[in-house]
Amino acid sequence: METILEVKDLRVSFNVRGGEVKAVRGVSFDVKKGEAVAIVGESGCGKSVTAQTIMRLIPNPPGIIKSGSINFKGEDLLKKTERQMESVRGKDIGMIFQDPMTSLNPTLTVGRQITEGLIKHQNMTKEAAKQRAVEMLKLVGIPNPEARFLQYPHQFSGGMRQRAMIAIALACNPSLLIADEPTTALDVTIQAQILNLMKDLQKTLGTSIILITHDLGVVADMCDRVVVMYAGKVVETGTKWEIFKNPQHPYTKGLLRSVPRLDQKKDEELIPIIGTPPDLIKPPEGCGFCARCDYAMSICQTQDAAMTELSPTHQAACWLLHPMAQSAQAAAGKENSR
Ligand code: SF4
Repeated sequence: METILEVKDLRVSFNVRGGEVKAVRGVSFDVKKGEAVAIVGESGCGKSVTAQTIMRLIPNPPGIIKSGSINFKGEDLLKKTERQMESVRGKDIGMIFQDPMTSLNPTLTVGRQITEGLIKHQNMTKEAAKQRAVEMLKLVGIPNPEARFLQYPHQFSGGMRQRAMIAIALACNPSLLIADEPTTALDVTIQAQILNLMKDLQKTLGTSIILITHDLGVVADMCDRVVVMYAGKVVETGTKWEIFKNPQHPYTKGLLRSVPRLDQKKDEELIPIIGTPPDLIKPPEGCGFCARCDYAMSICQTQDAAMTELSPTHQAACWLLHPMAQSAQAAAGKENSR
């Protein structure tokens, strides 16, 4: 399958009063054409910052992209000028946020907000753009789309605004859709409708999706592959079945035990991960999960583990998986027995 996006060794920091917050610390992953990839992890793990960096929406200052590359369809997005990025956003990459009001313009009708992109990026006439906008509103399930075309965002309900934002994001048939917690603020029925809609669009238009979420039920339902992030790094990546059925990183295992899942047995208890993520102003030298990990060894405190390949699609960064782990454990044993 053709790779549409390749993020390599991405590092992003924020300079705040207390120092430099290293929010993204060497993140690499890719997305294939027509594939839905989930990025999961606790708040502050760097998943939203990664998404915003792909769109080049990190405010500078305080944000700064330190290094890495974001190859999208053969071109590095980090080398593009702001003007070039304007045409990438909306045309090639669409983005849906948790709160539609952050991306909808309250002073423009919803119809105008859809047609603007079509006129600008697709060189459509006003009339053709209007026709396409009405079609898009219909496609995302907005009743009476001709009348809704003329209304302002405040005249839409929360669920309708979310749909309108999806219509805007998808109007120009982007090859990649980045959805950052797209349904968190919505009630369960509307959540399901919106996710089904995204799934349909992925199938019918062949759009690739990056879905940022903490809801593993949504991941199981929608995604092909999962990228697990912790403390600004990717700690495990695999197909959704590899991650759900055979997780290897202690953090992934903890994450799966701590949130409710549809396939959960009735008597299965939810076990929260004790402790808090590290301070990313002074990230730990070794494994970021060390302070919370039941299996931590002495090597974990001083050196971070490299990715171990468990299958062509499954990788995890943990010393337990490394051939050196046994010798490290043996060494620790010897030290303890002295
Ligand atoms: Fe735990 Fe060590 Fe693995 Fe980190 S590298 S998850 S501390 S065992």
